[in-house]
Amino acid sequence: MNLFSFDDMKEIKRDTLGDMVPLELFRSVRLIGMYQGLPMKGKNTTITVGRKIGESIPVNSLEETLKVFEEMKIGIPKIIDQTDDQEVHISIEDCFCEGLPVHEGNMVCDLEGAILEGALSTVYDGKINIREVKCNVNGDEKCEYKINFS
Ligand SMILES: [Zn+2]
Repeated sequence: MNLFSFDDMKEIKRDTLGDMVPLELFRSVRLIGMYQGLPMKGKNTTITVGRKIGESIPVNSLEETLKVFEEMKIGIPKIIDQTDDQEVHISIEDCFCEGLPVHEGNMVCDLEGAILEGALSTVYDGKINIREVKCNVNGDEKCEYKINFS
């Protein structure tokens, strides 16, 4: 049994500070704490953590999943290419990583991709795999993911 659900996360009663934390806190957890602080840039952890969060989000479609991604202000996802239900190519506008210094060879939005993967795994029966293919931090124009359905 899970102690906390995604809906529990929305139960916020903070009179003075409200329901927002600054982006630098999220970035610090993600990049200083996880990417830098864990072995292998946190790879295994981000996959486990991201999927687990994704699975807890109640969604019924790809569109709804992308909407939640934007509501959580991770970024604004847009489908840029779709090949007969096998592969969906997504670009992210206003990704949380936008504006960070470029470090070529580094793609840092794997946890966010794993969140998408986890959420979509509750929508589709087959196997789903998401790859981060571009990232602002790598010097790319946008962050992008490729989702494969099989
Ligand atoms: Zn990004």
